Amino acid sequence: MSDTILLDYGSGGKASQRLISQCFFKHFANETLEKMDDAALLHVSGPIAMSTDSYTVTPLFFPGGSIGTLAVHGTVNDVAMLGAKPLYLSVGFIIEEGLPMQELERIVKDMANAAKEAQVRIVTGDTKVVPKGMCDKIFINTTGIGEIITPHPPSGHRAASGDVVIISGAMGNHGLTIMAQREGLSFVSDVMSDSASLHGMVENILQNVTDKKSVHVLRDPTRGGLATTLNEIATQSKVTIIIDEKSIPIDESVRNGCSFLGLDPLYLANEGKLICLVPEHEAENVLKSMQAHSKGVHATIIGKVVAPEEGKSRAGQVLLQTEIGGKRLLSMLEGDQLPRIC
Ligand code: MG
Repeated sequence: MSDTILLDYGSGGKASQRLISQCFFKHFANETLEKMDDAALLHVSGPIAMSTDSYTVTPLFFPGGSIGTLAVHGTVNDVAMLGAKPLYLSVGFIIEEGLPMQELERIVKDMANAAKEAQVRIVTGDTKVVPKGMCDKIFINTTGIGEIITPHPPSGHRAASGDVVIISGAMGNHGLTIMAQREGLSFVSDVMSDSASLHGMVENILQNVTDKKSVHVLRDPTRGGLATTLNEIATQSKVTIIIDEKSIPIDESVRNGCSFLGLDPLYLANEGKLICLVPEHEAENVLKSMQAHSKGVHATIIGKVVAPEEGKSRAGQVLLQTEIGGKRLLSMLEGDQLPRIC
């Protein structure tokens, strides 16, 4: 094999076969994939959750992960947020001619390890190679399928007045890591992406909750961060969400990096955190379930859901109770604060 990706590797011919067997099968090895039929034959009982996402992050490798870990964790997490156990993934690669083979193999290894750890199988895939300059190194699409494991799947439409808002840990680490890499900021060298799969934490929550109906909303605050995700939930459920600024965990290094770059950590992407909305009487229980998971040690309550009140708040609004005592509107951004962070 050549040590860079050639156009022929996406041809479907012998060169493609070599790339498939010497790189993809070598790392993704499983029976379903190796059958090489036109589609994967899967067995799933009951309702399923399905989600798709494309990954275009730059740089391809960063502290705490890579485009490969994101392509698995991001899709696995979206499937899990519906109250599902992720089982299968498809993967589509669009590769720019000339990408070093070593980089492709490192990405594929990262994907294989992340999938193994998450106990999901990559069962079908596709590779296209485009001429130099027609895409930036590599883009990856993954689609995930999972089995719903609760009779009452959480949804952004189910937030209700009286719910508490719980987050699983510190905000903004992924977004700031990517920005620090791009800007070459050496003083934030201790910041790492939080890229991780979260379905184990979701299983913990669903298993330990007293009433299965109680898990109203689960969401991973990825692009647009905590502020955008809460706005989506408030709009979908036609409620007001009030969060307390001083209760939101933000690592010191993230805070420093953000003030240097003029970024708001509440709008920065996370790739290994979740938001959970449950009625207040379940809060302690759910908090413990989250804290029992290695990725939820710092889980904490940051706010509550209230009914919109005439003259004070409108349905769909998110209010931030500030550290100095006032309240301000935490609105949704018009566009993307940071492009290509996932
Ligand atoms: Mg999501």
